[in-house]
Amino acid sequence: MREKQILGIIWKCNLCGFCPKDFECPAFDDDARWESSYARGKVSIVHKILQDAECGFQNSALARARLFSCTGCGHCLYICPSGIDIPTIITLGKKKLVEANNYPEAHKKIVKNIKNYGNPFGEKDPRDLSWPELKSNVDAEIVYFPGCMAIYRLPDIALSTIKLFKKLGENIKVLENETCCCGILYRIGNIDLLAEYTRPMLDELNKKPPKQIIFTCPGCLVTFKENYKSELKEKFEKTKLLHFSEYLLDKISRLGDLKSKIKDLLETEIKGPIIWHDPCHLARGLGIYNEPRAILDTIKLPYMEFKQNRENSNCCGSGSGVRSAYPELAENTTIQRLEEVKELEARTILTACPFCEYQFNSVIKKNGYDINIMDLNSLLVKLILLL
Ligand code: SF4
Ligand code: SF4
Repeated sequence: MREKQILGIIWKCNLCGFCPKDFECPAFDDDARWESSYARGKVSIVHKILQDAECGFQNSALARARLFSCTGCGHCLYICPSGIDIPTIITLGKKKLVEANNYPEAHKKIVKNIKNYGNPFGEKDPRDLSWPELKSNVDAEIVYFPGCMAIYRLPDIALSTIKLFKKLGENIKVLENETCCCGILYRIGNIDLLAEYTRPMLDELNKKPPKQIIFTCPGCLVTFKENYKSELKEKFEKTKLLHFSEYLLDKISRLGDLKSKIKDLLETEIKGPIIWHDPCHLARGLGIYNEPRAILDTIKLPYMEFKQNRENSNCCGSGSGVRSAYPELAENTTIQRLEEVKELEARTILTACPFCEYQFNSVIKKNGYDINIMDLNSLLVKLILLL
């Protein structure tokens, strides 16, 4: 991350005011309505920190709250007519605050857990506990990277994905030195730790590059595709990095006649109407929003859209450590999404991101919403079981 370059990007901001639109920014403080809680205000804070370290903004509690409440959703970048990469600017601001040891306690715990246990939750179980055979499958040319959230919190996503690989007859493995992708370290400003904690895994990938690495977590995919490239100069030139929906698209017919079972599924396992939620990293970050829809269209699953969707979709509120450091803020954002689901009279949110699923699920339970949340791969496995 080059500071000079980022300062140059900040100077391109013409203060037009398009990004301070409250609904799009999950970090916006609705009560205070301060400029500093919007993207433009956050950029100004980083500008001051970079240009005038003497001022001491990097030690301020307000700067900490304003910068670390950014989920990195990228909606401001989508809106900005000058194309200013606001999330990257804010990440640099977070880095400066980390250097000043001015960052949330919850994030310090995440760093400690990754350092000691290789995952942000501090879980001691091995990552391949439920699929040990995949680690010894060393000759497979396709790697599945499940990510910490699917391994330790939502194993159904990883187990369903492994079942889909098997049904497709694909020979896959998981990495011997697999660890947390550490994208969360990047997004909470602990950027310098990225190289140290991922080195054994990246050495393994460089020594014997697989043909493809398939991801079910959009955050992990963004980390491999973008953050490793910008921060570690890792380009993966011999390896295709794909989200599972991209990988599956031209193979979906090999799973069987799934469309023949949609009616049964909707009468038994899933409450309709279904609504598709575009995860920020997947849709806005990676531009992957047609692929999951094409899969749904192929199997003829009826689904609704949020009012804002695809690249313009709204964040679930949990990203970049906001869920752990500012749970109320994250919950308020999720409630906005759930209220829209209610208004549209949908009953099941379908998505393809373990973080979104986990956040929606906990807020649904806490607030008693009569709404379900489901991962696309889990739905596909349910259909296969009906065949
Ligand atoms: S990335 Fe998202 S949360 Fe962060 S300032 Fe932009 S719109 Fe707000
Ligand atoms: S939309 Fe872009 S140019 Fe306009 S104020 Fe926001 S960051 Fe600046």
